[in-house]
Amino acid sequence: MTAVMLDGKTCAADLEENLKSRIKACDVTPHLAVIIVGDDPASHVYVRNKIRSCERLSIKSTHLEFPENTPQIDIEKTIQQLNDDDSLHGILIQSPLPSHMDEESLTDLIDPEKDVDGFHPTNLGRIVQGRLDGMIPCTPAGVMEMLRWGNVELSGKKAVVIGRSFNVGMSQSLLLAAKGSDATVTIVHSRTKDVQQECLAADIIIAAVGRPEMVQPSWVKEGAVVIDVGINRVEDATRERGWRLAGDVHPDVANIASIMSPVPGGVGPMTVAMLMANTVTAAERFSQRK
Ligand code: NAP
Repeated sequence: MTAVMLDGKTCAADLEENLKSRIKACDVTPHLAVIIVGDDPASHVYVRNKIRSCERLSIKSTHLEFPENTPQIDIEKTIQQLNDDDSLHGILIQSPLPSHMDEESLTDLIDPEKDVDGFHPTNLGRIVQGRLDGMIPCTPAGVMEMLRWGNVELSGKKAVVIGRSFNVGMSQSLLLAAKGSDATVTIVHSRTKDVQQECLAADIIIAAVGRPEMVQPSWVKEGAVVIDVGINRVEDATRERGWRLAGDVHPDVANIASIMSPVPGGVGPMTVAMLMANTVTAAERFSQRK
């Protein structure tokens, strides 16, 4: 079997087309503020990609860059100002923050209506309640959109999510199990006894571990759907830059799975597209409240 590849770029482009008409119909220009602290090169690439997406969609973006040694209180004050600024609808803090900062308490300060990452406890709590009309974390929301786009049936299927981070694995598990999606979900983590056996029982595997190519072909049931969330840099002397991107799933899984998502070009573009979708939703809600 050779898996059909879910092309995240095409799926994201379809989503953007739909967003363009929502933006046109909205009587405010959606506006996203991105806070970045420090010099992490990968974070700067991610922020550039997000700003480029904003430009493509005519979403206004404000990029706030702070040096590595910025005191936490300065970021707290910035968040308060952004919360109070009616001209902007979304606030995102690019992760990771420098080690002297408490990311959780900064996230708690963001107005949940402007929390386009969906990481505020109010928004995460809403998912537990089955209220899926709020700000849903972009990566798991992107995976759900991709599965819908690929016509993957979820109801009654056995899904295994590898990883239980609040931003990816745990939220993903809740979304798959939610009413309407109706998968039967197993959450696998670093203390799980036999990850391979859990995966072999799955109709759908979502890998969000951060371990390059961990999911091997021998872990996958013939015809399973495999979504690879992982983004890992691995050394590769054959590349000019000395490294390449690898997912959490071995590429040979494509010989066993029926549907698979590639890395790069799978979940990554969907994450950015869902950030744009959350920003547009936040602007629409602001305009309705006015
Ligand atoms: P994370 O916070 O480090 O969480 C990793 C999870 O994997 C943890 O729950 C951990 O278990 C589990 N784990 C680690 N080793 C394991 C093992 N050997 N067997 C089973 N489970 C294991 O990472 P994350 O933020 O969720 O991200 C996961 C991956 O997705 C990373 O590669 C990241 O770069 C990528 N990512 C991609 C996007 C995108 O847009 N495509 C967005 C976000 C993240 P414990 O809880 O027990 O420690």
